[in-house]
Parts: sequence; structure tokens; C-alpha cells
Amino acid sequence: MSKRVVVVGGGIAGLAAFRQLQLQQPDIEVVLLEASPHLGGKIKTTNFLGQPIDEGADAFITRVPWATELCEQLGLNSFLVSPATSNAYVLVDGILRKLPKGLVLGVPTKLLPLLRSRVVSPFAAIRAGLDRFLPDDWPGDDESVGSLIRRRMGDQIAERLVDPLVGSINAGDTDHLDAALAAPQLETASRRHRSLVTGLKEQSKNSTDSLSPVFLGFELGMRQLVDTLVSSLREADIRTNTLVTDITKNPDNLVVRTQQTSIECDAAILATPAHQAALLLASCPAAADRLSSIEHASVAMVTMGFRQADVGHPLDGSGMLIPRREGLLTTAVSWGSSKWPHWANTGHAILRVSAGRAGDTRALALEDDELVEALLTEVTNILDIDGDLLEWRVSRWIDAFPQYAPGHDRLVAAIERDLRSEMGGLFLAGAGYKGIGIPACINQGNQSAEATLDYLKTL
Ligand SMILES: Cc1cc2nc3c(=O)[nH]c(=O)nc-3n(C[C@H](O)[C@H](O)[C@H](O)COP(=O)(O)OP(=O)(O)OC[C@H]3O[C@@H](n4cnc5c(N)ncnc54)[C@H](O)[C@@H]3O)c2cc1C
Repeated sequence: MSKRVVVVGGGIAGLAAFRQLQLQQPDIEVVLLEASPHLGGKIKTTNFLGQPIDEGADAFITRVPWATELCEQLGLNSFLVSPATSNAYVLVDGILRKLPKGLVLGVPTKLLPLLRSRVVSPFAAIRAGLDRFLPDDWPGDDESVGSLIRRRMGDQIAERLVDPLVGSINAGDTDHLDAALAAPQLETASRRHRSLVTGLKEQSKNSTDSLSPVFLGFELGMRQLVDTLVSSLREADIRTNTLVTDITKNPDNLVVRTQQTSIECDAAILATPAHQAALLLASCPAAADRLSSIEHASVAMVTMGFRQADVGHPLDGSGMLIPRREGLLTTAVSWGSSKWPHWANTGHAILRVSAGRAGDTRALALEDDELVEALLTEVTNILDIDGDLLEWRVSRWIDAFPQYAPGHDRLVAAIERDLRSEMGGLFLAGAGYKGIGIPACINQGNQSAEATLDYLKTL
């Protein structure tokens, strides 16, 4: 009898799991159930001013291998593009300042460029330099990113550089994000060396990839990854518009219930966001409680198009970050038409303006037109725009960013233990657990497929 595996959730983690199951074991039956009409989850590309432009993720990091490997396997390498510039700006007391050279996740490794940038006060720059002389004060595991930076480099570096940068990746508050999970590069450097900057410099000396692009995207948007992955699957039983409502365990199998039917299977992979996974596990309350304790932040992304000539500030960078202390609704603006070389010749300045992060839910309370107006006023002031907004689009990402609080890895280990003992054959994958970036989600999809196949061998 061939075995049946159900994958719940058709985001990148679920799709990677599906592909891996098919590749490793062609004779098992795999069914993918996706609640929405589309595959890809938070990867969504639609047309804007005649150009395919991402509403969510627009690039992936290459410093971990899983997305680049998948692109290679899918024959996508010739479609990859890297950002045209690595310059970026940060708003400080209402003035845009270029980020200094030598930053690693916002941590300045060079004192002179930091001083010259005027992003922090001269006193704060000297305080940051003290990192090289201060005694080792590592407090042990479970430190937050904010605490690590504040103790080594001072508050201004934490609030004006690291929080805007690391926080914008997670829509998080770095004072509440686990350093080992949200900024592993910083955490490792700080754990291994007395000085954070010395640790980061050691890491870069040992790194072989400093010349290759750090980020890659696709000419046709991230959708190209999803579409190519899906078309590589053989005779795939993929059911969209299929909301899973419940998963239970029988002595011999699992039962996955949807609004229309129920499917018995030997194993299943739950690749939905953690808060949605919690809703499906009423029969395993311990795991459900732990899953629902993972906090999530919401973001609204407003894409705006202007005539290039109407933007007064030179868009000579990939975008700008807005620290919390500026008190604005805008949290970051990606200057898409400067960031991506293939958008440059459209004659338009295309900006992706973000609002909302952990602890700031103001954007959620605004209707679309109110939100656009508020963000437009802020962006117009900062970038000295004098001309009409040609087109806009609002993309809302509700509860989209899991917040990895200190100790998150132990919480995930406990959930996995709960599932092993109460729901044997059910595995987790996706942004809620072991990394929120696209490469980490692909890796988790692959790993959950491996774990599933190992489990099937025991039956
Ligand atoms: C605005 C934004 C920008 C981002 N930018 C980047 C970036 O530039 N680079 C990067 O690497 N990452 C980025 N990310 C993060 C990254 O896109 C996500 O973490 C990742 O795509 C999540 O993939 P996933 O498969 O875990 O989950 P999802 O994409 O959330 O997929 C889960 C799927 O499960 C489905 N589902 C949920 N409940 C059920 C149910 N009961 N039954 C059936 N199906 C269900 C959902 O409909 C969804 O399709 C960004 C995220 C956002 C929101």
C-alpha cells in the first residue's frame, strides 16, 4: 500500500516540503491543502505601473544556502538579479543620513565612518568604540538583540541603527527578540569574543563569500520562484480554496479535516503560520497553547508610484529606515526603482512604504485611503516630492511576522515534543519556528519532509 502524506499550507515551506517528499520517495501520495485561492503564501507578485512588483518578500539572503540551492535545482539562476546598490539611509531627527560604511546588521565596525555619518552623536560614537575595551559582560543565553547592543555599544547604536535594521526584517522590537535567533551573527560574535566588533571582524576574515551579492531577487518578482517550483512537481494533488479545520490522531493514522471532507493519512506536515496551526490542534491542547503563545506583528505595505523628476531627494540607495524614536507611521521605505536595476528605465520612482511593527498597531486602525494619505504626507516631506501620486496599492500582512522572544528555540522544542507524544507523524515547518526568511522556510520544508520519510519507515 502506498503511503499518504498531507501538507497543510501552500507557502514556500509547504511547497518545499511537497517537492522534497516527491523527489525522495516518488511512490508516496502527497496532497497539499491550501486555504487561499493562491499558492506562495507571503510570496505575492502583482503588476504595478506595468511592472511585476512584490507585495511581500522581494529578495532572499544568499549567506545561507537553501534558496540559492533551490534556484539552481529549478534552473532559475539566469533570472536572478541583485540589488543595484547597497547604500541606504536612516532618518535621524527628521534628516536623512546615509548609513555609514562597515555596518554588520547595524553594528558599526569602523569608528571614523560612524562619526562622519552623524547618525549618532560624537559621544555615542565614542561609547560604541568602548566595546573594544569593556570587560566581557555576556549574561548567558536568552539575551535579546537590544540588550546585547545596548551593553556593548550603547543606546543610540541600538535605537538608530540595529533596531531599524534588524527590527525591519522581523517587524519586531529588538529589545524583545532573541539575539541567537534574530541576529545569530551578532550573538555568535559576542559569545565567542569579549568585544563584539572584534568578533565580527574575525567572522568576516574567515568568510569566503564577501564578494558575492548578499541578496538576490527575480526579474519577474519572487512569484517566479513559486511558479517554477509548482510547475516542477509531477501530477501534484494540490487543492487551493481548501481550509483545514482540524487534525486528529487515530491509533494508526492522522485525520486531516477540511470544510468539505476528511483525509486519512500516514503523516502530515503543518506548514501554516504558528497561530493558525494552533487552531487545528484542539486535540493536542499542550501544543496548541504553546503555538498560540508565539506573538505576531502585522505590517501594511503601500506601494506608491511617482514621476522620477518629481522626487527632490536623490534616490541613490536601496531605501531608508525610520527608527521608532522619530514617531512616524512609516517604518521603512524601499526605493524599488533604485534598488532593482530592471525597474530603473520605467521613468517612475516606485516606493514600497511599510507601516506597522511589534508594539505599533496604528496602521491597522486606518482605512486604506487614510493610511495612504498619512504615509504619503510623511514620505513627501522626507523625500521632497512635488508631484502627483500616480498609482498606489495597499497590501496588508496581518499577523505575518512571528516574534522570536528569548527562549523561542526551547518553546519550539517543547511543541515538537508535544506532537511526538500526542500526534505521532505530524511535523511542523515554516516561519513560526526556525527562521522567518525564505531560505530558512525552504530549509524547514526540506527538513520536515526528511523527518516525515524517517517516520514512515518506522510504520
Ligand atoms: C511584507 C513582507 C516582506 C517580507 N520580505 C522578505 C524578504 O525580502 N526576504 C525574505 O527572505 N523573507 C521576507 N519575508 C518573510 C517571508 O516572506 C515569510 O516568512 C515566508 O514566505 C513564510 O513562508 P511560510 O511558508 O512559512 O508561510 P506562509 O507564506 O504564511 O504560508 C502559509 C500558508 O498556509 C496557508 N494556511 C493557513 N492556514 C491554513 C489552513 N487552516 N488550511 C490550509 N491552509 C492554510 C496560508 O493561506 C498560506 O498560504 C517577508 C514577509 C512579509 C509579510
